[in-house]
Amino acid sequence: MLKLIRNIETYTPELLGTTDILVAGEHFAHIGEISPKGLPDLEVIDGRGLLAFPGFIDGHVHILGGGGEGGFASRTPELMLSDVILGGVTSLVGCLGTDGFTRTLASLIAKARGLEEEGISTWVFSGSYGVPLVTATGGVESDLLLIDKILGVGEVAVSDHRSSQPTHEELCRLVADTRRGGILSGKAGLVNFHLGDGVRGLAPLRRILEETEIPASQLLPTHINRNPLLLAEGGAYAKAGGLIDLTSSAPPPESGTRQVPAPRALKMLLDEGVPADRVTMTSDGQGSLPEYDAQGRYSGMGVGKVRSLFDAFREAVLDEGIPLVTALLPFTANPARILKLRGKGRIQVGQDADVILVDRETLELHTVIARGRILMSEGELKARGTFEGAILAKPRIQA
Ligand code: ZN
Repeated sequence: MLKLIRNIETYTPELLGTTDILVAGEHFAHIGEISPKGLPDLEVIDGRGLLAFPGFIDGHVHILGGGGEGGFASRTPELMLSDVILGGVTSLVGCLGTDGFTRTLASLIAKARGLEEEGISTWVFSGSYGVPLVTATGGVESDLLLIDKILGVGEVAVSDHRSSQPTHEELCRLVADTRRGGILSGKAGLVNFHLGDGVRGLAPLRRILEETEIPASQLLPTHINRNPLLLAEGGAYAKAGGLIDLTSSAPPPESGTRQVPAPRALKMLLDEGVPADRVTMTSDGQGSLPEYDAQGRYSGMGVGKVRSLFDAFREAVLDEGIPLVTALLPFTANPARILKLRGKGRIQVGQDADVILVDRETLELHTVIARGRILMSEGELKARGTFEGAILAKPRIQA
């Protein structure tokens, strides 16, 4: 029941200094010096040489698998729990993608519930690439009002040859309905937009903000680092008050991709004066990534990884030199605030005990705790998905 992390340099994500963190059940019970004397059934973790961060939040993961753009055999596999743990991720938002037909919201919600039973916290977006939207209950508002797991809509594709080429009026209605559903249900009610390589870029989103009363908080465009031009446009959009999301999964450099690596993109945005609280980063995990050989010939399909998110964080600090307190924001406090995930994104008394411990020099993952449960300890997985590994783990079914 009780876990005490002792003498640990703590980032809430603000730097708190070296302290003790007491976890009781699923929550942070005390932060500050504490004597373990008299505390029953106490598990003590020595925090010396480690740093404590809030568990990472990955706001865009194809948990059910995505892809399918190269035919049926290119449909990507479902997400497994170990990939989530290895990414230091303790909360995620699942979404459909290009395929909103053979992949359904019912399956997406079921998969999200499964991951939650396995130990992490999950939500999903209603809809997929296309407009009109696929929904679970027949409408966006009812999805938000009736299904706890649904916190918004996404990823709706714009400025992409794979989009449904939605009109301005269709997009306005979609964003307005999602916002109203969010207001009524107390959720974020935002729309996560997939941005393609099309020359229109963010113009469809800017037009919504210019011509309606809808605030910028309701739009979260992703893949902003997919090419240098879109990144530049995204920087200007964020400086003007918009929110933007970077994608950490990337095709290999030999594929000829124009994607700006997410850590580099984050550094460029900060250098040009984008406020750090307007940027999030997500993995696009289990999304498909086309691969090419040295001659540029298509050689197969890769799969985005949730763990790319943690690699991107380390590179942002170790290679790009972004200070820890700034580099942590796109992975912790920002998504928690933007997606309105209560109890998430901060190490604070009363919040969910989602915390990761990393080596203070290498920033390598050491321990992952999600809702008070240890999923990784000393770099070793302590939990696996139900069907991972040679021996099937018993599903955690509550009595
Ligand atoms: Zn996408």
